Amino acid sequence: MRMPNNIRVYGIVYHVNIVSNPHDPEFPEDENTWGYTDLNRANIFINSELDKNHQKQTLIHELIHIMLWESGKTSLYNDENLVTSLANSIFELIQGNSLFVN
Ligand SMILES: [Zn+2]
Repeated sequence: MRMPNNIRVYGIVYHVNIVSNPHDPEFPEDENTWGYTDLNRANIFINSELDKNHQKQTLIHELIHIMLWESGKTSLYNDENLVTSLANSIFELIQGNSLFVN
């Protein structure tokens, strides 16, 4: 699994930004978060200080947030326990089975 520059979710192209000290303006108290998504501007931000596997895991985490939002499951959008459980499980399936690797 390589880190994409852009990723399409339900017809919306999100740009993947690897940045130092990503900071979600909605949660100013959360310093140096692993990642967050700006839905309005279709931007995903991932912390450049994470190792590559944590960056990939964080990308999947943000994609699950986006999928919940875009598919209308807005009441689950901010359910961090659900999102983290799904993201880490899917990441393990991909990495543990070398899925989608040429
Ligand atoms: Zn989250």
